[in-house]
Amino acid sequence: MVLEADVIVIGGGSTGTGIARDLGLRGLSCLVLEKSDLASGATGACQGLLHSGCRYVVSDPPSAKECYQENRILREIAASCVEETEGLFVSLPEDGLEYQERFISACGAVGIPVERLSPEEALALEPSLSGELIGAVRVPDGSINPFTLAAENARAAQIHGGTIITHARVDSLLAEGGRVRGVRGTHVRTGEVFEAFSGFVINAAGAWAGQVVRSLGLSIPLVYSKGSILVTSRRLTETVVNRCRPPSDGDIIVPNETTGLIGTTSIQVEDLDRLTVEPDEVRLLLEETARMIPSVGLARLIRAYAGVRPLFMQAGVKNDRQVSRGFVVIDHEEEQGVRGLLSIVGGKMATYRLMAEKAVDAACEKLGVTASCATHLEPLPGSRKHGFVSLAERLRKTSPEERKDPGKDLILCECELVTRREIEKAVIEDGASDLNDIRMLTRMGTGPCQGAFCAYRSLGTLLEAGGAGEGFPDEMLKDFLERRWKGVRPVVEGDQLREEQVAEEIYIGIFGLEKKGPARLSGR
Ligand SMILES: Cc1cc2nc3c(=O)[nH]c(=O)nc-3n(C[C@H](O)[C@H](O)[C@H](O)COP(=O)(O)OP(=O)(O)OC[C@H]3O[C@@H](n4cnc5c(N)ncnc54)[C@H](O)[C@@H]3O)c2cc1C
Repeated sequence: MVLEADVIVIGGGSTGTGIARDLGLRGLSCLVLEKSDLASGATGACQGLLHSGCRYVVSDPPSAKECYQENRILREIAASCVEETEGLFVSLPEDGLEYQERFISACGAVGIPVERLSPEEALALEPSLSGELIGAVRVPDGSINPFTLAAENARAAQIHGGTIITHARVDSLLAEGGRVRGVRGTHVRTGEVFEAFSGFVINAAGAWAGQVVRSLGLSIPLVYSKGSILVTSRRLTETVVNRCRPPSDGDIIVPNETTGLIGTTSIQVEDLDRLTVEPDEVRLLLEETARMIPSVGLARLIRAYAGVRPLFMQAGVKNDRQVSRGFVVIDHEEEQGVRGLLSIVGGKMATYRLMAEKAVDAACEKLGVTASCATHLEPLPGSRKHGFVSLAERLRKTSPEERKDPGKDLILCECELVTRREIEKAVIEDGASDLNDIRMLTRMGTGPCQGAFCAYRSLGTLLEAGGAGEGFPDEMLKDFLERRWKGVRPVVEGDQLREEQVAEEIYIGIFGLEKKGPARLSGR
């Protein structure tokens, strides 16, 4: 099969899938090539904060303004991915109130609506806060599901004629006479080599963007900042809680569907593909969080993960917290004389739509296409039908009175209340071809049991629905469990350790998975 499109997009994170949707809405065909699953880079490893812009309002007002504008747009177009939680910036005695003053006036200057609260008012809104707080500011933060966001953008792109191929790694760019004509790559699961051709290539490979252009002898000045995040088995707070001080480690807690996300750290790294959450990071995050939410000590940690921010290095910047969290579109024709190629790096998930718009504007200018961006007007496919569905609503839907067909409405994932019907839908309607796709689309396996009981049940449904792509069921199960284990490993103690022992008994003791092949469930 010859792969061809007007534009090839490298990378299936929020930026790449956002670009694909934008291209489709402007009438251009596109081909997205993603080396792993969608959202497997920084998108899936982020903290799920729909920034109000406040975090950067003192240090980087233009970025803050951009965030706020996009925050408003995403609430409209991506309603199914966004939970409108609001947020608080809380001051503790050691922070003083001087930063709060600067913060409030900076928010006013860029037009972010905020409200100063007394400690009593803040505690009434968020009772889990420390009684020591000396002040708080209410801000329009939200919580956003990065997996649904990427999947919905990809679906929108497909509806407009785009093609998305996952597990397809781009190994080199194909150029002729100083112009990029396409890419050469490998289907990772089969080892098959492919070539794809286009009039333009957009490199949205995130932290790996520099590796992608290296085949043409080009480079991108990036520093890589690793951030680690802890996941609790329940929501720690109902609002996003931030510390009111210059951005630092362990100063944000985000309620994310059924869980709480504690973040983050910022550590410069070199190796993008071997990220580990270190015990010191776990300790630091818990200590800092306990200052704001003392009950964190009682929470059960169910996993930890890390992602990398690719930060575009400007001259004179000394440490990675000082590098702008803004984004850059690099025109390789202007910079290095190579035509037909743009790279886009940096930014935030919350500004992915704007990033996509700017990259596609630049590509359209080169291609002589005059259609303008419509992504801020058009809702994502799922958001056209419904807004955010909370766990309480799910619970209602899965109550016996609401069940139409007891077989289909059987709950396969008890932690996240995912029914057989939802898993079948993910397979038949949304194209899930393995357990990781199902996890992304439904949250199956993301609760306290981390897949122990729902992975094999979901595999059965996947096979019955005829959705399993390449690979044997055993391999699929192992791959899924290994990825879950990688996240559990840094926090495996107490109840989570007992849960893992049950999982081990099921998969090694009963299914004998470890004996069947090279992949291991227990790397401990
Ligand atoms: C720890 C952490 C926390 C964060 N928290 C937030 C937050 O709360 N809110 C927020 O708005 N932002 C947050 N961010 C920033 C946000 O995650 C990123 O800005 C955003 O997700 C970047 O998306 P992307 O698509 O550009 O990159 P990525 O998501 O990294 O996507 C790049 C994709 O390219 C693929 N790829 C790479 N090389 C190749 C190749 N050769 N061939 C094919 N595919 C390839 C990768 O597999 C990857 O899927 C956070 C980032 C980190 C690291």
